[in-house]
This record gives sequence, structure tokens and C-alpha cells, in this order.
Amino acid sequence: MWRAVDDRHKKYRCRACGKADRKSRVVDHVLKYHVPMDRVPFSCSLCNFRCLEQHELMDHVRKYRRHIDEASKLGVTIRQCS
Ligand SMILES: [Zn+2]
Ligand SMILES: [Zn+2]
Repeated sequence: MWRAVDDRHKKYRCRACGKADRKSRVVDHVLKYHVPMDRVPFSCSLCNFRCLEQHELMDHVRKYRRHIDEASKLGVTIRQCS
């Protein structure tokens, strides 16, 4: 229901509010505005980043030097809630 879908114009559209953009941006938008926190399968414990796939979360954490440093200090990097 809340997932981004491809339309005829090769753009993705949010079914909840009609916002259209590139796929990755619509997915971000849907996760941020329409999906309750407990419905998002993966989330970063160091910021508000949320995503649907574990590899996306891994990429996110690896991409930020700050995250790598903080994660090693805290001993916690990834929270999986499902
Ligand atoms: Zn929307
Ligand atoms: Zn993060």
C-alpha cells in the first residue's frame, strides 16, 4: 500500500500523497512520512536513517566516517526490528 510504484512516466509516485520523484527519493519520502517506525525493517541507531534492505543500512553506516567511529565506541551499529 505504501510502497513506491512505477508509473507510465518512469517516475515513482507515493501512493499516500501523490508525490512523484526518482525512485530512491520517493522511497526515502515514504519511509520518512508514511511508514510508522515499527514498520520499517531496518533503521540506523545513530541517526534517523531508515531503509527496507539490510545492505542499504550497511552501506549507510559504512559511508559515514562519523558513524564508524561512534559505532566502535558504542559497540552498537545496526538495529534490526522486525
Ligand atoms: Zn507521500
Ligand atoms: Zn545513520
